[in-house]
Amino acid sequence: MWPPRHNKQLEITPVIARKGCAVNCTVCPQELLSTTYNKFPDETRVRNLSFEEFKECIDKVPTTTRIDFSGYVEPYLNKHTSKMIKYAHDKGHTLSVYTTLVGIKESDIDLLIEICQHTTRPFSAFDQENPLCIHLPDEGGVMPISVSKAYKNKLLYFINKAKENNLGLGTHIRFMTMDTEGVLHKNLWDIFPEGKIPFKFKAISRASNLDDNKIVKKAPTMRNYEGGVGTRSGKIVCKSKSLYNNVLIPNGDVQLCCMDYGLEAKIGNLFENTYEELHTSEQFKYITDRMEDDSLEGAKDIICRRCENAGYELDEGTQMKNIEMQETLNILYEKLDSKEKVFYCRFGDGDFEIMNGKKEMMHKYSPELQRELKEAFTIQDDDYIRGVMVNEPTFNGYELVHHPPNKWNDTIALIQNIDKNFKESTFYSHVILTYMAVHEQEIFKDFLDNFIRPKKKLFIGSVDKNEIEKLVGKIDYYVEVPKRDAYYHIDEWYPKILECIDDVELVIPTAGMAGRVVQKRLWELNKSVQSIELGSIVDAAVGKHTRSWIPKVEKEIKNLLEV
Ligand code: SF4
Ligand code: SF4
Repeated sequence: MWPPRHNKQLEITPVIARKGCAVNCTVCPQELLSTTYNKFPDETRVRNLSFEEFKECIDKVPTTTRIDFSGYVEPYLNKHTSKMIKYAHDKGHTLSVYTTLVGIKESDIDLLIEICQHTTRPFSAFDQENPLCIHLPDEGGVMPISVSKAYKNKLLYFINKAKENNLGLGTHIRFMTMDTEGVLHKNLWDIFPEGKIPFKFKAISRASNLDDNKIVKKAPTMRNYEGGVGTRSGKIVCKSKSLYNNVLIPNGDVQLCCMDYGLEAKIGNLFENTYEELHTSEQFKYITDRMEDDSLEGAKDIICRRCENAGYELDEGTQMKNIEMQETLNILYEKLDSKEKVFYCRFGDGDFEIMNGKKEMMHKYSPELQRELKEAFTIQDDDYIRGVMVNEPTFNGYELVHHPPNKWNDTIALIQNIDKNFKESTFYSHVILTYMAVHEQEIFKDFLDNFIRPKKKLFIGSVDKNEIEKLVGKIDYYVEVPKRDAYYHIDEWYPKILECIDDVELVIPTAGMAGRVVQKRLWELNKSVQSIELGSIVDAAVGKHTRSWIPKVEKEIKNLLEV
């Protein structure tokens, strides 16, 4: 019978040398691992896991736990790794192996080929359940090994053995590389005539354990590297379900997960504890309690709060109170017509990325921006209308952009986490003005003629003043901001807003996230103004193609302009 699928993993790091993994890929926090381990006291700093020690540990692990030979180093840098693999497999575990082939011998390859053909527990050929994966050198040198004749002979031995045994390349034996587009080192192009493999790689900061600035210099081909995340607040969960995917290091310590290159989250020691105790230990509970509750002492510093894999989960039965586009428009008309202080703020995906502690294409992350955006987003007032980029399928029967079901679940879970009054909160349409500008121009002109053009106004942005006046009418005060990362210069331009704010009726911020921050600050100052974010119609009106839809609707946008 096929064994039950694993729900826990134990990764084996069978060696930690003085300089860490000899392969030393530029997007792997080896410096952190080795310097941390080098500081361990002599008696707890074991460099190589012996076979006997491995056996002692693995005998405590139930066979429903998958054993991974990957961990924090190339596994074949320990000469006993094959013996360990055989022992764990014979004992009944499913295995996965990730190797660069550095340190591997032909007899080690023979064993892997043999396991591929095992009747009940082979490496899985058709899913990611328990793969055998060879990490190949990339053209950009992110995996910086010498692609020598000896290396190529080993790779060819592997490939030929696989072919002899009718094993599929890319299935039974997978390939990966650390190039964003799968481009391989030139010296391998005779073996892989296309020069690349169908694999796209994206490096992450490994829970902010890499130095982003160094990565940009050391791995220039890693163009999609996003860098470390900020600090996640509130109740978080591990989205990769890694709390039970732990890592054994040579001294028997078990670390929380594959992100913990700084060895800061030890959950037990398999020479001293049972396997079950790892997940009931004080150290384990210390982390899980602090994932749940960020007000506990030390909660801000746990590894999970700065990890890419941490996220939020929707409470069961949670419903977001969304006001759809038509109704948002009605409310805007009613309030803008009758109240002096009304704000319409638009929170898009980028805002939520920053509030979630992540990097974003248009804005740099900083804890200050994250804090101010959260403050802006959590203002609760009927006249502070928050447009939110979720759940906006149609307007007058048109589907704007097709979104798969549940696309916004993670964003809604984040919103629930940030907004303590989530259950009572109302969220409005984010795209209504853009939509009207393109599809309902008569209504949009009416909106402009009533609430924008005739008002004495302050415009905050970086577009040409004369050009944008064709859309919004006469601008009485113009505060210019930098085109990118305006928030990081806010001290230079925000005082100019304060100089004129009491002399205007309307503020139009077009400064990206900094605009949301300005709206928050003005709201808190209790200024009797209206503030309306127009969004990317402003770019469209001045001919800037900052969104893919803008070039397609140039004619419609031109209709709105007054020459
Ligand atoms: S990615 Fe793997 S092979 Fe590369 S340095 Fe890290 S552990 Fe070693
Ligand atoms: S959130 Fe990150 S650090 Fe925490 S268990 Fe998951 S993967 Fe590991």
